Amino acid sequence: MNLVLFGPPAAGKGTQAKKLVADRRLIQLSTGDMLRAARAAGSDLGKKVAKIMDEGKLVSDEIVIALIEEQLDSNPDAAGFIFDGFPRTVAQAEALDAALASRGTQVDSVIRLCVEDESIVSRISKRFESEGRTDDNPETFKKRLAAYHENTAPLLPYYSAQGKLTEVNGMADIDKVAQSIARVLDTNGNGNSEKLKGFWARLFGK
Ligand code: AMP
Repeated sequence: MNLVLFGPPAAGKGTQAKKLVADRRLIQLSTGDMLRAARAAGSDLGKKVAKIMDEGKLVSDEIVIALIEEQLDSNPDAAGFIFDGFPRTVAQAEALDAALASRGTQVDSVIRLCVEDESIVSRISKRFESEGRTDDNPETFKKRLAAYHENTAPLLPYYSAQGKLTEVNGMADIDKVAQSIARVLDTNGNGNSEKLKGFWARLFGK
């Protein structure tokens, strides 16, 4: 079961991905987290992307696609992945389809967390105060939101044409959003089998 969690920055993708990891034995792949880790480690990659991230722009497709491919290769036995903050461009979505196809799998479901711009701007100012992420400052956040509308929202027709897109109200509280996501995954069949696999794994410690 491979799931893309889709939505603007601060829609709650990371929060919901973490809940799914706990519930369904899926691996969360957040390109934002990977890039922040590279920066924290002071690696060449981290140095290369720091300025771009601080300006609220997208790093190159090539960089994030390579990060994702690396993770797919490092986790060959995963029950599935939750893509969080990736893909963000049509080129990334095409590369993801190709990367999964070459490994005998596919994107099964794309869940869009629908939130209004005004409410995420107020959400983000709270996150800026509590977590202190430099790119959450109001000026940079506006640019990230603009990048979402310009580069990422055009992915919606891409996934809708594949019949994979479901919309969920991302304005509800965290547990309600999680319940809506669970319903989507359980009705498309795959989610249920993942849930069962998770149950047996917990029971037998595998
Ligand atoms: P996020 O935590 O997902 O909001 O990502 C933080 C920042 O990392 C973004 O504003 C971009 O600069 C960069 N980034 C994360 N994921 C991607 C991606 N898939 N494509 C391009 N840039 C990304």
